Amino acid sequence: NHLLSEMVTKDFLTNLYNHKTFYKYYKELILRSCQSKTAFSLAILDIDDFKKINDTYGHLAGDKILQEISSLIQVNIRMTDVAARYGGEEFAILFPDTSAQDSAVICERIRNIIETHVLNIDNHSITITISGGVAGGICTDPYYRQNKLFEFVDQLLYKAKSEGKNRVLYSHELIIITE
Ligand code: C2E
Ligand code: C2E
Repeated sequence: NHLLSEMVTKDFLTNLYNHKTFYKYYKELILRSCQSKTAFSLAILDIDDFKKINDTYGHLAGDKILQEISSLIQVNIRMTDVAARYGGEEFAILFPDTSAQDSAVICERIRNIIETHVLNIDNHSITITISGGVAGGICTDPYYRQNKLFEFVDQLLYKAKSEGKNRVLYSHELIIITE
């Protein structure tokens, strides 16, 4: 039973939460933010040039890299933070009750740990970098209909990529989740 519930909440490859479970926590966090008027932060981290890595070392190596990066993320955040495999090589993290500034420091810590970590995959020594976007959100209206936080963080990630990758960008602007 426990195994079955793990299978539907976790991503099988990386053991991080899957997309669906992430959204469940995200909605819960928004509700909590509506009630307590506290801010939380969302980060999206993406492995740089992952396609090139896959093409160079093969998909099995790519999978091992995804597993190792996921584990590096998981052990370097708090148990109360929620990390998920959001897309192919994209990770999303929720930081409850944490400002964007603090969350950017955490993501920078993760970025640095990954950059300096040498992965040994099939006798190859590989170093990986990630880019990320971070912003804070707060709900002021319990009947929220608009949520631009994801788009906003995605844009920061896109900017981090276009400015040369291997960096985390964050915004001071708190995204109001409301109509
Ligand atoms: P710090 O590492 O400079 O972190 C500053 C603040 O950023 C923390 O304040 C916390 O609000 C936030 N923060 C840092 N890392 C995380 C994280 O992984 N997840 C979340 N949600 N928030 C994070 P806080 O809690 O008052 O901690 C103050 C200082 O105490 C930290 O400064 C750090 O030096 C130390 N500390 C607290 N917990 C830990 C821990 O589990 N491991 C380590 N190595 N140090 C810790
Ligand atoms: P945890 O809270 O689940 O945090 C897991 C890991 O995330 C920490 O491993 C650390 O690598 C990172 N981390 C979390 N919060 C912070 C932070 O504020 N600053 C920094 N620089 N890193 C952070 P670590 O350090 O081996 O700690 C393992 C566990 O020990 C933590 O699990 C927590 O339960 C406890 N712990 C360690 N230091 C503190 C502390 O200063 N205050 C409290 N309340 N608990 C601590």
